[in-house]
Amino acid sequence: MTMNVHAETIAAIATAAGAGGVGIIRLSGSAAPAMARTLLGRSPRPRHAHYCTFTEKDGSVLDRGLIIHFPAPHSFTGEDVVELQAHGSPVILRCLLARVIELGARQARPGEFSERAFLNGKIDLVQAEAIADLIASGSQAAARAAVRSLDGEFSARVRALAEAVVRLRVWIEAAIDFPEEEIDFLATPQLLEDLVATCDRLDDLLAASRRGVRLADGLHVVIVGRPNAGKSSLLNALAASDRAIVTDLPGTTRDLLRETIDLDGIGMTLVDTAGLRDSLDVVEIEGMRRARDELARADLAVLVSTDAQLERDLPLLADLPATTTRLIVHNKIDLAGSAPRQAEIDGLAHIWLSARSGAGLDLLMAALRKAAGYTEDNQGAFSARTRHVDAIERARQHLHAALRALREQRAGELAAEELRQVQHALGEITGTFSSEDLLGRIFADFCIGK
Ligand code: GDP
Repeated sequence: MTMNVHAETIAAIATAAGAGGVGIIRLSGSAAPAMARTLLGRSPRPRHAHYCTFTEKDGSVLDRGLIIHFPAPHSFTGEDVVELQAHGSPVILRCLLARVIELGARQARPGEFSERAFLNGKIDLVQAEAIADLIASGSQAAARAAVRSLDGEFSARVRALAEAVVRLRVWIEAAIDFPEEEIDFLATPQLLEDLVATCDRLDDLLAASRRGVRLADGLHVVIVGRPNAGKSSLLNALAASDRAIVTDLPGTTRDLLRETIDLDGIGMTLVDTAGLRDSLDVVEIEGMRRARDELARADLAVLVSTDAQLERDLPLLADLPATTTRLIVHNKIDLAGSAPRQAEIDGLAHIWLSARSGAGLDLLMAALRKAAGYTEDNQGAFSARTRHVDAIERARQHLHAALRALREQRAGELAAEELRQVQHALGEITGTFSSEDLLGRIFADFCIGK
């Protein structure tokens, strides 16, 4: 990418930490150093914090603070960047912003700083998106994952795979260019082995990115079950954890969605399936619609039942989309005097617990965290977006097509073309290949000043 040194200078309030806090006005562009000079009365030294009296055009004092110049290309955007640190009052920050606009800056669009950093090659698209995800992160785990993506862990894995694909493509294209040796070249076991190994690596990346999306977006859990199964008790027991934020959902008395909690990034909504029965009552019909919508959107459905009722209750999960993960809770084990445990039966996870005594809640929490993409110690978990998962899935299809073309037809040209598509799909993730449309959509989601 070319260095965008002649970019018009943009300005934004980066942080407004309220009265008493620090507020930052950030400028980026080729005219930023001249603006700093005007405000400071002399040229600022690179990366040096100067104490500065910020004044209006007529010399009246606006505030006193710091001014720092980060010369291009060693700045966040890759352009000349000037930071003005002032008191965090929104009034002062607005006045300072007006002052730099008077000096020739224009207000930045949302995400424009990150967009410039991307266009100037300082960060790739995954890293830019990680900045937005970090700001929006709803849990500590999500924030940590976003920092890993920002550090380039996800990008490095994508790039390493893209390089492996390029090597395979070069190999195959060399075989095509020397047709007399083509058969031998393409029949080399090593080539197929490398292709298969690359498929495996892509599968690993796909699984990790899916986890990354759940980490970034949070997990939407719906608790279902008949009245009196203990759904509210279970939700309350989970909400009692100091990691939970409890919100009451307003609604009618027959509203099925009684409440929702946010447990360290895992949003949980309670759906009482009493309302899922057929009804002609207007309020109940509306409640049923909301319950069904809620279930359809769930990543994970937790059925609360008991040993005795389970067979009767299992059909409650029957209408769920195939992609929804299911978990069965056998509640009220205290009544039978049995111990908490978990088991997998026919591919379904079952947990025996008591919402009343709290026994076995830790097993449920562990299962929820696992479903949310948290690994044991969250080692290596990075944030990702649906866009990335879609691209990896496309890359995977093309890679498998390349493998089939080689294995079954020895069709070198076809395989090379499929590998080119793999490379393209992977390049879309980091932004090596990107349309203006996509960039517009990504950066429009940012907040101003980032
Ligand atoms: P919901 O209608 O599914 O929300 O069920 P509730 O949470 O309101 O619970 C229904 C009844 O079962 C209440 O009297 C609870 O105290 C009781 N209950 C819930 N969980 C347990 C449990 O683990 N053990 C026992 N013994 N009673 C429970």
